[in-house]
Amino acid sequence: KVQVQQASDAYSQTVEEVLDRLNVGPQTGLDEAEAERRLERFGANQIEQRKRASTLTILLHQLTSPIVYLLAGATVLAFVFGHHLEGTAVLIVLIVNTIIGYATEARAVHSMEALRSLGVRSAHVRREGQAKVVPAEDLVPGDIVMVEAGDIVSADLRLLNTADLGVNESTLTGESMPVDKSTDAVPPETRLADRTSMVFKGTAITGGSAVGVVVATGVATELGHISQLVQGAKPVRSPLEQRLADVASQLVWLTIILTTAIVAIGVARGSDAVLMVSTGIALGVAAIPEGLPVVATLALAQGMWRMARQNALLERLSAVETFGSVTLILTDKTGTLTENRMTLASVCLPADELVPKPFDHGAMDGDQGPLLEGLLTIACLCNSSVLDQDSETEIGDPMEIALLRAGANAGLVRDQLLARHPIVQEHAFDTAIRMMATIHEADDSYLYAIKGAPEEVLSRCVAVRHAAQDVAFDDEARSEWGDLVERLAGEGLRVLALARKTGPSPDAPLYDDLVLLGIVGLHDPARADVANAIAACHVAGIKVAIVTGDHVVTARSIGRQVGLPVDGTEAIEGHNLARIDFDGAELRSTTIFARVNPEEKLALVHAFQRAGEVVAMTGDGVNDAPALRQADIGVAMGKRGTDVAREAAAMVLLDDSFATIVKAIAEGRVIFGNIRRFAAYLLSCNLSEVMVIGLAVALGLALPILPLQILFLNFVTDVFPAFALATTKGDDGVMQRPPRPPGEALLGRPQWRRILIHGLTLTAAVFGAMIVAGHVLGLEGEDLVTVNFLTLAFAQLWHVFNMRRPEGGLFRNELTGNRWIWAALHFCAALLVLAVYQPDLAAILGLAAPSLSMWLVVLGMSLTPLLLLQASGMLVRLVRRDVTR
Ligand code: ADP
Ligand code: MG
Repeated sequence: KVQVQQASDAYSQTVEEVLDRLNVGPQTGLDEAEAERRLERFGANQIEQRKRASTLTILLHQLTSPIVYLLAGATVLAFVFGHHLEGTAVLIVLIVNTIIGYATEARAVHSMEALRSLGVRSAHVRREGQAKVVPAEDLVPGDIVMVEAGDIVSADLRLLNTADLGVNESTLTGESMPVDKSTDAVPPETRLADRTSMVFKGTAITGGSAVGVVVATGVATELGHISQLVQGAKPVRSPLEQRLADVASQLVWLTIILTTAIVAIGVARGSDAVLMVSTGIALGVAAIPEGLPVVATLALAQGMWRMARQNALLERLSAVETFGSVTLILTDKTGTLTENRMTLASVCLPADELVPKPFDHGAMDGDQGPLLEGLLTIACLCNSSVLDQDSETEIGDPMEIALLRAGANAGLVRDQLLARHPIVQEHAFDTAIRMMATIHEADDSYLYAIKGAPEEVLSRCVAVRHAAQDVAFDDEARSEWGDLVERLAGEGLRVLALARKTGPSPDAPLYDDLVLLGIVGLHDPARADVANAIAACHVAGIKVAIVTGDHVVTARSIGRQVGLPVDGTEAIEGHNLARIDFDGAELRSTTIFARVNPEEKLALVHAFQRAGEVVAMTGDGVNDAPALRQADIGVAMGKRGTDVAREAAAMVLLDDSFATIVKAIAEGRVIFGNIRRFAAYLLSCNLSEVMVIGLAVALGLALPILPLQILFLNFVTDVFPAFALATTKGDDGVMQRPPRPPGEALLGRPQWRRILIHGLTLTAAVFGAMIVAGHVLGLEGEDLVTVNFLTLAFAQLWHVFNMRRPEGGLFRNELTGNRWIWAALHFCAALLVLAVYQPDLAAILGLAAPSLSMWLVVLGMSLTPLLLLQASGMLVRLVRRDVTR
């Protein structure tokens, strides 16, 4: 028995030699038992999964931030000046901060990895003489694999057969020009880039199709060799996290300046230098929102999971945020708006009087019978899908499967037809000309079978096949057939024309001099959930337009079915796009772009973006990749899409459904709102701490709150509520507001103004408490500090509720309905009680057990900011009389 080897030198051997070495027949392929054995022997076809971001890299990532430098500096200073307690506390803060940061980021990174592995690739193979789809991991040397435009090759293949094959090997060679391939062996010394007899794992098929035999899998592939050289990917920050990190590092600088100034003033006024240093440290720690980047990562990662649960897989964290600002969805039609479950509904055969006939069982009376048979024969021959009604296997394009099924019902089985007319060449569906062709042997000549978009096919027909003979196809006939196409399309059917010709050689131009056989209409019902989703988009201020390769009339009919406002507006055809004033209102008011090819899709995305839209765009083909990449959110289809499209997209829809896009947008909006909320919360809390200390120093007062207490505040009262805020579900209104203006900053002027006002109010409450406790209750020392501390702490806790959307109810809103917020508040309150009543903790923090009157002051003063801000907010809205802000 032959011992099979991985054969990475197969490019220099002939097809026969390679097949012989791999002990496989090209028509039958391996049998399952043998495939199993080889899988055991060679292992799964996997390159060690994209090297995981290592523990160390994630850890180092936490340590390289200005926040950490500042905290470290503070620790050193504290120890140098003998403040061991503060030093230790800051050190603990530093360590805890790093641990939380590490845990959050590690979780996010691993979620991404887990999500990626959900989108496993499959490969089309021939085993035991049958076409099968297997997971790409299960490919073994010797497998016969079919690839076509849009696939990412799953293993190194020696080509056995090619048809118009174009391959982009830039992943391997860095060269992005398509490479021509053939089945001829090349000399052994040929460089990788010139091994034209092979296609390699990881490269993309950009056109045509091919059959090859697997010669190497997994790490034995060329990609495997290269991957082992490449080190693990660094965790990348999303733009949003980056912006938050920038805010944090700006605050660090501000803090350093402010702290130095305050300390200088203090020392100049004759305060104790040592105390001033520890004040400076406290200020530094107070000002910095340690939690900000961490909570942001958490919020994004959580959003990603929530979206995944709704069948939307994100390729990168930052896409979550972009989703929230989408203003326009450009959606394709087939499979996204419709079910992509097609049935042949209508057939139109040449006759004296052209009428579409409903297609049910394939029987037609009289002389129409042979005509129908001829048409279905071509429909089954010119077909790259697989239908096996016995084993209920369906592989490929639903439209083609519908044709195969129609043929089978009429007694025409593709395999039997192929036995009579062996296939010589296959030219895959070309989205640029919207046709495909196959060439077959027929007696002593060649039969060309053609199907495609009716306009294209009709314009290339020279004759039409009537029962008696072929009749010349004149302009009059062409326009009659054209009307018929419109009529079928008007019923929402996808229309296809079928044609044939014969010739002495298989190398004639494919699409010239065709003989028309007829047209067929395929029914593809609109998805049930789409109409609601589109209505939701309109309420949410998001425009929806169909961009399709299909006929205008079909698109319009489907548009009408799903509730797009198609009737008042003109549809634009792709070839007219060049003539349209792109920035004009015309573009915006258009809901149907039909007969659009992939380049025109790209131009369309560009044009809309120039007009200021944030574009989400769906796509499935190879040629859609540039448009998907260009769109703000490229959406690829998980079931139907090609690997290339998936790779280019920011999101993969596992269920291919339009409604899922809308859910993702809602989720994106919620998350953006949450991030804005907790950022504002953390910053206003920190601001209040800085102002309390800063003001006291400037006024020459004793420190109202001590450094360690500030550390405690930052780590107790800030972080937990902020985490809780990040989990807030959307209010009912998220999809009832217009999208946020593109380019609107996370923290813009209005947000900073609010942060300032909130910070000031919290500060005022502490000073209020200080005055009441000092002058009315006559407290001083630890007692006074305790009142100040508790006031600020509780004020910050209640402050959470100032983060509600002003439109919501005062008591029933998205925050009061969030259990995590209540949990965080209870937990923090318990910790604060512990801090004052647990003797050891109280001693360390310099706090005293409060009396009842102290508690009353604390409660009264800490509630003031909440009441004040809510009341003034309502007043302002009353005066402005607009509730929408
Ligand atoms: P859609 O936007 O609906 O996905 P496509 O770009 O896939 O449209 O297809 C455009 C047109 O090309 C279809 O209306 C049909 O007439 C034709 N077409 C689509 N797929 C095939 C195919 N496999 N073979 C021949 N013609 C096809
Ligand atoms: Mg399509």
